[in-house]
Amino acid sequence: MTKNQEYLELESSIKAEFQSSLSPADALDLLEAGNQRFLSGNGSKRRSQSNLLKGAAQGQAPFAAVLGCIDSRAPIEEIFDAEIGDLFVARVAGNTVNGDILGSIEYACKYAGSKLVLVLGHTQCGAVKGAYASLKDGNLTGLLERIEPAVAPVRETHGTDAIDEAIDLSVANNVQLVCERIKKESQILAELEESGAIRIVGGVYNVATGEVDFSTYPG
Ligand SMILES: [Zn+2]
Repeated sequence: MTKNQEYLELESSIKAEFQSSLSPADALDLLEAGNQRFLSGNGSKRRSQSNLLKGAAQGQAPFAAVLGCIDSRAPIEEIFDAEIGDLFVARVAGNTVNGDILGSIEYACKYAGSKLVLVLGHTQCGAVKGAYASLKDGNLTGLLERIEPAVAPVRETHGTDAIDEAIDLSVANNVQLVCERIKKESQILAELEESGAIRIVGGVYNVATGEVDFSTYPG
């Protein structure tokens, strides 16, 4: 039986035993299969809420940590057909990193056993568009400055008009740079990846089709 079949047959939330049986590649397979179920409309609540809550009362063993954007069109659990206890989810505009986000992912992987970090950008990202337009306003200024390194080279080649192609390229750049920054700025996560305990990968969610492209940063 594949890990995905085992996962689909779970009756309660994920236990540490199942989590520790997964490789980082298995965790990625679970996310890919979850997105396929979502896409095909076969996503369903397989486990009863009361079982999930009973499991939650005993602890958690999520198989992956996802860093996504706050965008209302990219709800992380939903697009991976995931349920209570399945995923750690950090969301911040432009799915970028700072110390708090890094600390959260470190906790997810080192102390709570998650096997995979997925940085998930999305099409039509307003934060990336804001960075592309060099928007400066309030606390957004500092946030968008963290995205600037991803958009600057695209602005050089495509000009200042934020056409779709320029934003798509910037979104992909941002995902790749965030994956690299995670490894550069978190010794804990870099070592976990080096040892094979986790993988750090990046993808882009298409808000129009519901599909996740996992090829952005294969890790
Ligand atoms: Zn966004």
